[in-house]
Amino acid sequence: MEAFVQDHEASIRLSFFLGIFAVMALWELSAPRRALTASKAVRWINNLGLVALNTVILRLLFPAAAVGIAAFAADQGWGLLNYFQTPAWIAIPAAVIAMDFVIWLQHVTVHAIPLLWRLHRVHHADPDYDVTTGARFHPIEIILSMLIKSATILLLGPPIVAVLIFEVLLNATAMFNHGNVRLPTGIDRVLRWFVVTPDMHRVHHSVEDDETNSNFGFNLPWWDRLFGTYRDQPRAGHEGMTIGIHGYRAPREVSWLPGMLMLPFRGRITGYVINRRQWSEAQGIRE
Ligand SMILES: [Zn+2]
Ligand SMILES: [Zn+2]
Repeated sequence: MEAFVQDHEASIRLSFFLGIFAVMALWELSAPRRALTASKAVRWINNLGLVALNTVILRLLFPAAAVGIAAFAADQGWGLLNYFQTPAWIAIPAAVIAMDFVIWLQHVTVHAIPLLWRLHRVHHADPDYDVTTGARFHPIEIILSMLIKSATILLLGPPIVAVLIFEVLLNATAMFNHGNVRLPTGIDRVLRWFVVTPDMHRVHHSVEDDETNSNFGFNLPWWDRLFGTYRDQPRAGHEGMTIGIHGYRAPREVSWLPGMLMLPFRGRITGYVINRRQWSEAQGIRE
Protein backbone atom coordinates (compact mmCIF):
# COMPACT_ATOMS: atom_id res chain seq x y z
CA MET A 1 0.00 0.00 0.00
CA GLU A 2 2.71 2.47 1.08
CA ALA A 3 4.88 1.60 -1.95
CA PHE A 4 1.91 1.82 -4.30
CA VAL A 5 1.03 5.28 -2.98
CA GLN A 6 4.62 6.45 -3.35
CA ASP A 7 4.95 5.10 -6.90
CA HIS A 8 1.64 6.45 -8.12
CA GLU A 9 1.12 9.65 -6.12
CA ALA A 10 1.64 11.92 -9.14
CA SER A 11 -0.81 10.07 -11.35
CA ILE A 12 -3.37 9.67 -8.53
CA ARG A 13 -3.25 13.41 -7.84
CA LEU A 14 -3.39 14.30 -11.54
CA SER A 15 -6.41 12.04 -12.13
CA PHE A 16 -8.37 13.62 -9.26
CA PHE A 17 -7.34 17.10 -10.43
CA LEU A 18 -8.52 16.48 -14.01
CA GLY A 19 -11.74 14.74 -12.95
CA ILE A 20 -12.84 17.38 -10.46
CA PHE A 21 -11.67 20.19 -12.73
CA ALA A 22 -13.86 18.83 -15.55
CA VAL A 23 -16.93 18.55 -13.27
CA MET A 24 -16.49 22.09 -11.91
CA ALA A 25 -15.75 23.59 -15.34
CA LEU A 26 -18.92 22.05 -16.83
CA TRP A 27 -20.96 23.19 -13.82
CA GLU A 28 -19.64 26.77 -14.24
CA LEU A 29 -20.32 26.77 -17.97
CA SER A 30 -23.88 25.51 -17.60
CA ALA A 31 -24.93 27.63 -14.59
CA PRO A 32 -22.46 30.43 -13.72
CA ARG A 33 -23.05 32.25 -10.40
CA ARG A 34 -21.59 35.59 -11.56
CA ALA A 35 -20.78 37.07 -14.98
CA LEU A 36 -17.02 37.09 -15.63
CA THR A 37 -15.28 40.43 -16.25
CA ALA A 38 -12.47 38.89 -18.35
CA SER A 39 -12.80 36.34 -21.14
CA LYS A 40 -12.79 32.74 -20.04
CA ALA A 41 -10.11 31.91 -22.64
CA VAL A 42 -7.71 34.53 -21.21
CA ARG A 43 -8.42 33.29 -17.67
CA TRP A 44 -7.86 29.67 -18.46
CA ILE A 45 -4.69 30.18 -20.54
CA ASN A 46 -3.01 32.36 -17.92
CA ASN A 47 -4.27 30.84 -14.66
CA LEU A 48 -3.66 27.29 -15.89
CA GLY A 49 -0.31 28.39 -17.36
CA LEU A 50 0.69 29.44 -13.85
CA VAL A 51 -0.50 26.06 -12.48
CA ALA A 52 1.63 24.22 -15.08
CA LEU A 53 4.67 26.38 -14.24
CA ASN A 54 4.22 25.70 -10.51
CA THR A 55 3.89 21.96 -11.11
CA VAL A 56 7.17 21.87 -13.05
CA ILE A 57 9.00 23.98 -10.41
CA LEU A 58 7.76 21.73 -7.57
CA ARG A 59 8.78 18.55 -9.40
CA LEU A 60 12.26 19.96 -10.04
CA LEU A 61 12.82 21.25 -6.49
CA PHE A 62 11.02 18.46 -4.58
CA PRO A 63 11.18 15.32 -6.74
CA ALA A 64 10.15 13.06 -3.84
CA ALA A 65 7.10 15.27 -3.13
CA ALA A 66 5.29 15.36 0.23
CA VAL A 67 4.69 11.60 0.34
CA GLY A 68 8.45 11.05 -0.10
CA ILE A 69 9.09 13.23 2.95
CA ALA A 70 6.47 11.26 4.91
CA ALA A 71 8.23 7.99 3.89
CA PHE A 72 11.56 9.43 5.03
CA ALA A 73 10.08 10.49 8.40
CA ALA A 74 8.58 6.99 8.82
CA ASP A 75 11.96 5.33 8.08
CA GLN A 76 13.70 7.53 10.63
CA GLY A 77 10.93 7.22 13.21
CA TRP A 78 10.60 11.00 13.19
CA GLY A 79 7.49 12.94 14.08
CA LEU A 80 4.87 12.63 16.82
CA LEU A 81 2.69 9.95 15.19
CA ASN A 82 5.68 7.75 14.27
CA TYR A 83 7.31 8.21 17.67
CA PHE A 84 4.18 7.11 19.54
CA GLN A 85 3.40 4.43 16.90
CA THR A 86 -0.16 5.67 16.63
CA PRO A 87 -2.59 3.18 15.01
CA ALA A 88 -3.66 4.12 11.47
CA TRP A 89 -7.35 4.64 12.33
CA ILE A 90 -6.34 7.48 14.65
CA ALA A 91 -3.22 8.66 12.82
CA ILE A 92 -4.85 9.14 9.39
CA PRO A 93 -7.77 11.42 10.43
CA ALA A 94 -5.62 13.20 13.05
CA ALA A 95 -2.91 13.93 10.46
CA VAL A 96 -5.39 15.19 7.84
CA ILE A 97 -7.03 17.52 10.39
CA ALA A 98 -3.67 18.72 11.76
CA MET A 99 -2.28 19.45 8.28
CA ASP A 100 -5.45 21.36 7.42
CA PHE A 101 -5.00 23.48 10.55
CA VAL A 102 -1.41 24.28 9.51
CA ILE A 103 -2.63 25.38 6.05
CA TRP A 104 -5.22 27.61 7.76
CA LEU A 105 -2.53 29.16 10.00
CA GLN A 106 -0.29 29.65 6.98
CA HIS A 107 -3.13 31.38 5.14
CA VAL A 108 -3.73 33.78 8.06
CA THR A 109 0.04 34.41 8.18
CA VAL A 110 0.31 35.37 4.50
CA HIS A 111 -2.46 37.89 5.12
CA ALA A 112 -0.80 39.26 8.27
CA ILE A 113 2.84 39.68 7.22
CA PRO A 114 3.27 42.47 4.63
CA LEU A 115 6.07 40.72 2.71
CA LEU A 116 4.06 37.51 2.42
CA TRP A 117 0.89 39.37 1.49
CA ARG A 118 2.81 40.58 -1.59
CA LEU A 119 3.08 36.95 -2.74
CA HIS A 120 -0.47 36.04 -1.76
CA ARG A 121 -1.77 39.09 -3.68
CA VAL A 122 -1.45 37.01 -6.85
CA HIS A 123 -4.26 34.74 -5.61
CA HIS A 124 -6.46 37.70 -4.65
CA ALA A 125 -5.76 39.98 -7.64
CA ASP A 126 -7.82 37.69 -9.88
CA PRO A 127 -10.69 40.00 -10.93
CA ASP A 128 -12.98 36.99 -11.32
CA TYR A 129 -13.66 33.89 -9.28
CA ASP A 130 -13.76 30.45 -10.85
CA VAL A 131 -12.26 26.97 -10.63
CA THR A 132 -8.92 28.23 -12.04
CA THR A 133 -8.60 30.82 -9.22
CA GLY A 134 -8.27 27.91 -6.80
CA ALA A 135 -4.81 26.97 -8.04
CA ARG A 136 -3.56 30.45 -8.88
CA PHE A 137 -0.59 31.10 -6.58
CA HIS A 138 2.78 32.76 -7.13
CA PRO A 139 5.62 30.19 -7.53
CA ILE A 140 7.44 31.61 -4.47
CA GLU A 141 4.28 31.13 -2.35
CA ILE A 142 4.04 27.56 -3.70
CA ILE A 143 7.67 26.87 -2.70
CA LEU A 144 7.11 28.45 0.73
CA SER A 145 4.00 26.31 1.12
CA MET A 146 5.96 23.17 0.25
CA LEU A 147 8.67 24.02 2.82
CA ILE A 148 6.04 24.55 5.54
CA LYS A 149 4.31 21.30 4.56
CA SER A 150 7.64 19.42 4.66
CA ALA A 151 8.45 20.78 8.12
CA THR A 152 4.94 19.85 9.31
CA ILE A 153 5.36 16.28 8.01
CA LEU A 154 8.76 15.89 9.71
CA LEU A 155 7.33 17.07 13.06
CA LEU A 156 4.00 15.25 12.79
CA GLY A 157 5.11 11.97 11.15
CA PRO A 158 1.81 11.35 9.32
CA PRO A 159 1.11 8.04 7.53
CA ILE A 160 1.99 8.29 3.81
CA VAL A 161 -1.65 7.58 2.93
CA ALA A 162 -2.76 10.53 5.09
CA VAL A 163 -0.49 12.89 3.15
CA LEU A 164 -1.93 11.70 -0.17
CA ILE A 165 -5.52 11.96 1.17
CA PHE A 166 -4.79 15.46 2.45
CA GLU A 167 -3.29 16.66 -0.84
CA VAL A 168 -6.10 15.20 -2.98
CA LEU A 169 -8.73 16.56 -0.56
CA LEU A 170 -7.22 20.05 -0.44
CA ASN A 171 -6.91 20.20 -4.21
CA ALA A 172 -10.49 18.95 -4.66
CA THR A 173 -12.02 21.32 -2.09
CA ALA A 174 -10.01 24.30 -3.45
CA MET A 175 -11.42 23.69 -6.93
CA PHE A 176 -14.90 23.16 -5.49
CA ASN A 177 -14.99 26.26 -3.29
CA HIS A 178 -13.51 28.55 -5.94
CA GLY A 179 -16.28 27.47 -8.30
CA ASN A 180 -18.36 30.15 -9.98
CA VAL A 181 -21.40 28.12 -9.01
CA ARG A 182 -24.51 28.36 -6.87
CA LEU A 183 -25.64 25.79 -4.34
CA PRO A 184 -29.22 25.91 -3.04
CA THR A 185 -29.15 28.03 0.16
CA GLY A 186 -30.31 25.19 2.41
CA ILE A 187 -27.66 22.78 1.12
CA ASP A 188 -24.95 25.45 1.41
CA ARG A 189 -25.95 26.12 5.03
CA VAL A 190 -25.68 22.45 6.01
CA LEU A 191 -22.61 21.71 3.88
CA ARG A 192 -20.57 24.58 5.33
CA TRP A 193 -20.45 22.84 8.69
CA PHE A 194 -18.32 20.14 7.05
CA VAL A 195 -16.50 21.74 4.13
CA VAL A 196 -15.79 25.27 2.89
CA THR A 197 -18.44 26.02 0.24
CA PRO A 198 -18.12 28.36 -2.79
CA ASP A 199 -20.26 31.05 -1.10
CA MET A 200 -18.17 30.82 2.09
CA HIS A 201 -14.79 31.23 0.38
CA ARG A 202 -16.04 33.85 -2.13
CA VAL A 203 -16.39 36.28 0.81
CA HIS A 204 -12.60 35.98 1.25
CA HIS A 205 -12.06 37.26 -2.32
CA SER A 206 -14.01 40.51 -1.76
CA VAL A 207 -12.21 43.84 -2.38
CA GLU A 208 -13.45 44.93 1.10
CA ASP A 209 -10.51 44.39 3.46
CA ASP A 210 -12.56 43.17 6.42
CA GLU A 211 -14.24 40.60 4.18
CA THR A 212 -10.87 39.57 2.69
CA ASN A 213 -9.55 39.00 6.20
CA SER A 214 -12.20 36.41 7.02
CA ASN A 215 -12.98 32.81 5.98
CA PHE A 216 -9.35 31.68 5.63
CA GLY A 217 -10.30 27.98 5.44
CA PHE A 218 -9.69 26.08 2.19
CA ASN A 219 -11.00 22.71 3.26
CA LEU A 220 -12.38 22.32 6.81
CA PRO A 221 -14.62 25.25 7.85
CA TRP A 222 -14.15 24.84 11.60
CA TRP A 223 -11.02 26.94 12.14
CA ASP A 224 -12.70 30.21 11.12
CA ARG A 225 -15.63 29.54 13.45
CA LEU A 226 -13.30 28.53 16.26
CA PHE A 227 -10.98 31.54 15.93
CA GLY A 228 -13.62 34.18 15.17
CA THR A 229 -12.75 34.87 11.53
CA TYR A 230 -15.96 33.39 10.16
CA ARG A 231 -18.19 35.64 8.05
CA ASP A 232 -21.51 34.39 6.75
CA GLN A 233 -22.10 36.44 3.57
CA PRO A 234 -20.61 39.45 1.73
CA ARG A 235 -22.39 42.75 2.50
CA ALA A 236 -23.05 43.47 -1.18
CA GLY A 237 -24.34 39.96 -1.89
CA HIS A 238 -22.67 37.36 -4.06
CA GLU A 239 -23.80 38.95 -7.35
CA GLY A 240 -23.16 42.54 -6.21
CA MET A 241 -19.80 42.16 -4.47
CA THR A 242 -16.55 43.13 -6.23
CA ILE A 243 -13.87 40.44 -6.48
CA GLY A 244 -10.18 41.31 -6.40
CA ILE A 245 -7.96 43.96 -4.78
CA HIS A 246 -8.65 47.71 -4.82
CA GLY A 247 -6.32 49.43 -7.29
CA TYR A 248 -5.32 46.21 -9.07
CA ARG A 249 -7.43 46.15 -12.18
CA ALA A 250 -5.15 46.44 -15.25
CA PRO A 251 -5.59 43.17 -17.20
CA ARG A 252 -1.88 43.09 -18.03
CA GLU A 253 -1.08 42.97 -14.29
CA VAL A 254 -3.87 40.79 -12.92
CA SER A 255 -4.90 38.53 -15.80
CA TRP A 256 -1.76 37.86 -17.86
CA LEU A 257 0.91 35.49 -16.60
CA PRO A 258 4.00 37.77 -16.86
CA GLY A 259 2.14 40.50 -14.92
CA MET A 260 1.04 38.01 -12.25
CA LEU A 261 4.63 36.83 -11.78
CA MET A 262 5.77 40.45 -11.29
CA LEU A 263 2.89 41.40 -8.98
CA PRO A 264 4.74 40.75 -5.66
CA PHE A 265 7.49 43.15 -6.68
CA ARG A 266 5.23 46.07 -7.57
CA GLY A 267 3.93 49.05 -5.62
CA ARG A 268 3.35 49.66 -1.96
CA ILE A 269 1.90 47.28 0.57
CA THR A 270 -1.80 47.98 0.77
CA GLY A 271 -4.15 48.25 3.70
CA TYR A 272 -5.33 44.69 3.26
CA VAL A 273 -2.63 43.33 5.48
CA ILE A 274 -4.34 42.55 8.80
CA ASN A 275 -2.17 44.81 10.95
CA ARG A 276 -2.25 47.70 8.46
CA ARG A 277 -5.98 48.05 8.15
CA GLN A 278 -7.18 51.59 7.71
CA TRP A 279 -10.50 52.49 9.23
CA SER A 280 -12.51 55.53 8.26
CA GLU A 281 -15.81 57.15 9.16
CA ALA A 282 -17.21 56.38 5.73
CA GLN A 283 -16.67 52.73 6.48
CA GLY A 284 -18.36 52.99 9.85
CA ILE A 285 -20.69 50.13 9.02
CA ARG A 286 -17.85 47.75 9.81
CA GLU A 287 -18.05 45.84 13.03
ZN1 LIG B 1 -6.20 34.70 1.06
ZN1 LIG C 1 -9.08 31.68 -2.61
